[in-house]
Amino acid sequence: MSALPVTHTRSTCPYCGVGCGVVIEAQGGRITGVQGDPLHPANFGKLCTKGSTLHLTATAEVTRQARLLQPMQRLERGAAPVPVSWDAALDTASSEIARIVTDHGPDAVGFYLSGQLLTEDYYAFNKLAKGLLGTNNLDTNSRLCMSSAVAGYKATLGADAPPACYEDIERAHCVFIVGSNMAWAHPILFRRLEAAKAANPAMKIIVADPRRTDTASLADLFLPIAPGSDVLLFHGMLHLMLWEGWIDSDYIAAHTTGFEALKNLVRSATPERVAQECGVRVDDVLQATRWFAQSPASLSLYCQGLNQSSSGTAKNAALINLHLATGQIGKPGAGPLSLTGQPNAMGGREVGGMANLLSGHRDLANATHRAEVAALWGIPEVPAAPGKTAIEMFEAAADGQIKALWIACTNPAQSMPDQRMVQRALERAELVVVQEAFTTTETARHAHLLLPASSWGEKIGTVTNSERRISRVRAAVPAPGMARHDWQIAVELAHRLEARLRPGQRTLFPYAGPQALWEEHRSSTAGRDLDITGLSWERLEQGPQQWPMPEGASQGQARLYENGIFPTPDGKARFHSASYQPLAEPVDARYPFGLTTGRLRDQWHGMSRTGTLGRLFSHTAEPRLHMHPQDMQRRGFAEGELVQIASRRGTLMVPVQADTQLAPTRLFMAMHWGSEFLGGRAENGERLLGINALTQPAFCPTSKQPELKHTAVKVSKV
Ligand code: SF4
Repeated sequence: MSALPVTHTRSTCPYCGVGCGVVIEAQGGRITGVQGDPLHPANFGKLCTKGSTLHLTATAEVTRQARLLQPMQRLERGAAPVPVSWDAALDTASSEIARIVTDHGPDAVGFYLSGQLLTEDYYAFNKLAKGLLGTNNLDTNSRLCMSSAVAGYKATLGADAPPACYEDIERAHCVFIVGSNMAWAHPILFRRLEAAKAANPAMKIIVADPRRTDTASLADLFLPIAPGSDVLLFHGMLHLMLWEGWIDSDYIAAHTTGFEALKNLVRSATPERVAQECGVRVDDVLQATRWFAQSPASLSLYCQGLNQSSSGTAKNAALINLHLATGQIGKPGAGPLSLTGQPNAMGGREVGGMANLLSGHRDLANATHRAEVAALWGIPEVPAAPGKTAIEMFEAAADGQIKALWIACTNPAQSMPDQRMVQRALERAELVVVQEAFTTTETARHAHLLLPASSWGEKIGTVTNSERRISRVRAAVPAPGMARHDWQIAVELAHRLEARLRPGQRTLFPYAGPQALWEEHRSSTAGRDLDITGLSWERLEQGPQQWPMPEGASQGQARLYENGIFPTPDGKARFHSASYQPLAEPVDARYPFGLTTGRLRDQWHGMSRTGTLGRLFSHTAEPRLHMHPQDMQRRGFAEGELVQIASRRGTLMVPVQADTQLAPTRLFMAMHWGSEFLGGRAENGERLLGINALTQPAFCPTSKQPELKHTAVKVSKV
């Protein structure tokens, strides 16, 4: 008997926003291996620990047991879910949603999606909510990830478009890394930076971060800034640039507006004040400023340290101000390049899959944009009322305003801040539908309906990575059991809702597959900053491409704004003058420690996938609270001793570990650990889970991104 053929399928890694290409090996409907795709320009064949073990996490017995393989329904709260058919599950879901819409209006329904969905999944859900149901209550976990970067780009450069690309890492003479431990969070890009530094030792690397992370080990200069003080640091750097005559006056005059107001604002950011409030030396700030301003090409790389902040938009914009003031943008090796947390947060924004966006990077608040999308979808209008963003959506559900929550490919019961509030929301909602690949997520415990979704290696569609590069995602094996694709579930729900809400009318969802969704998305981008009308599905089959790629272009555009023209009404970039705001929850005598959270090198999000593989625990085996040795000594804590951490919202118990990467009074704990590793009780006895039992829901007023990077806590012996 001949052996079953081995297949090799090119796709992408489903973890971080680097967006590495992979080649999946499969045999007999089972994934048997994974390698880096040597032809993919994001990684040229390399993979990090997470990517190179994808095949093992896909096939591990524990993963197979954790897969949701058929629709399930919980007939009453707290009961064990029972299997139901797809028809029964979707009929129940559509009748309940139709009832809630009829009784309470469409804004009583909320959709909470994920930056791990494919672009086509996003497109279908966005049209379902905004085009069919008539609610803009559709947001995603990208709100916890990149919304401040988006708001920063739009406020300054006029569009949600990272202007630089990965190749700029090799072309840069100075790299300024802020609020990013890219050595762990974006490992393949960090390897690229290490190689670039090795090839060009004269390259200057500056790292600004409250923690001296592994990324800082590559730095020529490390700035251990106080948590939340980034805006003041950037204003101080601009103050020095003005004082030293290091600004590019010609660039400012020709390509920007608003510099006079910013000049006035940064006058008070004197070196002495910056040193005192940011906790850095004057000479170091001067050195960093000199390298950034005087280098032939300066590139900034940044991530959640800027984004997950109650002043996230101001932080992003203040950094971009430095690029505009020195002309360090629109040329090889220069520009601000936000590192996207999730694999397809970019694709989700491209199709307007957020509460404040519409297809093709259009704005919901713009009446012309709403009319354009209504015409594209063939509906009278898109509702104008702003949708609820992530925190607002769960607060509205906890308050009883939102009565149905549809959650796809994400685990808000673990990943959202202030878990007690999120639990109230999930308990109060009349309908909670969880569309998931795994049965093991904390959110699944609250579902009335559990719908099995396909996962990595099983899906077809597209994703966009941090450098605007769109890649094809391909299936190497069929989805297991009764699992269906996310776009397919959205379309089948839409057909049922159409039968109830607009009977006899032409369907708005005539999609036979992801390609049809892609084609509609592609046509929606005509004339927009992300125009991909020149990028056909067939062209994409040949290899990934960066947007924009308008009709007639032979390839995508590596770098934006090389002509100095920005997508604003007057073609000029805008300096952003926002004053420095302190942390939303400062430390005080009762809660004297500042807790920050972040990634581990070998784990991903809530560990649904990476937590199934023993070898991914060899880097970090168990949850730990990291604390400076002096603080441990002062409190009499021994290494590994169980301590209690308490914030104003909850309590956790976890072993403590000495860590000199942190300054005294600052703490770190990884974000990944869930209920199987951590437990605790709120003051009212509720079961709490993970680090977000402690974190706060305060968010940036512009981006609505919560301040996950800082919580005031106290620590005591158990
Ligand atoms: Fe996957 Fe990111 Fe690692 Fe690349 S760097 S293999 S995209 S986790």
